[in-house]
Amino acid sequence: MASGQCELMLESFTKARSMSFPRQVMAGHGCVNQLGTVCKDFELKGIGLIVTGPTTGTLAAKQVRDSLEEAGFEVQQLEVTGATQQNLVKVEEVTKDVKASFLLGVGGGSKIDLAKLASANLKIPFISVPTSASHDGIASPRASIKDGGNALSLNASVPMGIIADTELIVKAPYRLLASGCADVISNTTAILDWQLAQRLRSDDFSSSAANLAKYAAESIIDQASLIKPNLEESVWVCIRPIIISGISMAVAGSSRPTSGSEHMFSHYLSKIAPGKALHGELCGVGSIMMMYLHGGDWNRIRNALTLIGAPTTAEELGVSKEQLTEALVHAHEIRKDRYTILGDRGLASDAAERLARLTKVV
Ligand SMILES: [Zn+2]
Repeated sequence: MASGQCELMLESFTKARSMSFPRQVMAGHGCVNQLGTVCKDFELKGIGLIVTGPTTGTLAAKQVRDSLEEAGFEVQQLEVTGATQQNLVKVEEVTKDVKASFLLGVGGGSKIDLAKLASANLKIPFISVPTSASHDGIASPRASIKDGGNALSLNASVPMGIIADTELIVKAPYRLLASGCADVISNTTAILDWQLAQRLRSDDFSSSAANLAKYAAESIIDQASLIKPNLEESVWVCIRPIIISGISMAVAGSSRPTSGSEHMFSHYLSKIAPGKALHGELCGVGSIMMMYLHGGDWNRIRNALTLIGAPTTAEELGVSKEQLTEALVHAHEIRKDRYTILGDRGLASDAAERLARLTKVV
């Protein structure tokens, strides 16, 4: 072994790192009905608080409640809207008021993020019950929350269990699932950025985390032609990679294996054109362009997104050419601590315009 490699290995052995993982991941048709048994297996006791939304989670929340009550748990329920600081305070207050000993996030990303953060702050377990899979946060230890106009990405608890009922998820709008797939496909460029940061800046790198994230992305790209609307089989194909992508973050101890320059582009664009496109949709388009900058096969990313029915152009994202160029030019400012292909100075505006044109984004 080359001495440089020895040095790298020794360094990673001497640094202690702790990783937390879900104890049980269940994905399949109707599995939400087994939730009560799963919570019993976890030896959870007392009152469970369901954190859900006013509309999307209604049917799922009822099934969750029935299953828990059947298993002998007392259940309370709280309906909240978005993942805001204000709603987080509400979830924490209600958890204390009803003396809940565990939380269940039932709904889309925002309900799960609220339960995940409250669980970390109050140091009680939480179970993730996604009713849609629009990004890889359903299994990750990271959560994003809005505080005023700012979206913050925070460390939170990893779910003790993940119950992904494909029968429920297929009922969510297909656009959400396509966006979740695009988010996972974007791991391809996040990993290249991470490797670059290791070579140029000696950033900590975990091959196990990178390999998991890569496996998740490749399995969606390979099976892209099978991912279609209104087909429960499509959810089966996507859900495992989406969960594994989230788990790669638990292995890395950061979002690095799943978030690089394409995520910075996505965050910047959603700041200047709020409410236009979903997180995963923006990351997918970002990934096409960042793959070009890395000298990789950007057409393969583009083709997979097209097959899935996720956006590949500015027009499909609902943003103007000018907004897209601005996001490319300023993306590197989003996280100065995270080195990527965009470097410290970002793209020049003529280079950004050319990049978007060459990759057929505009
Ligand atoms: Zn993402």
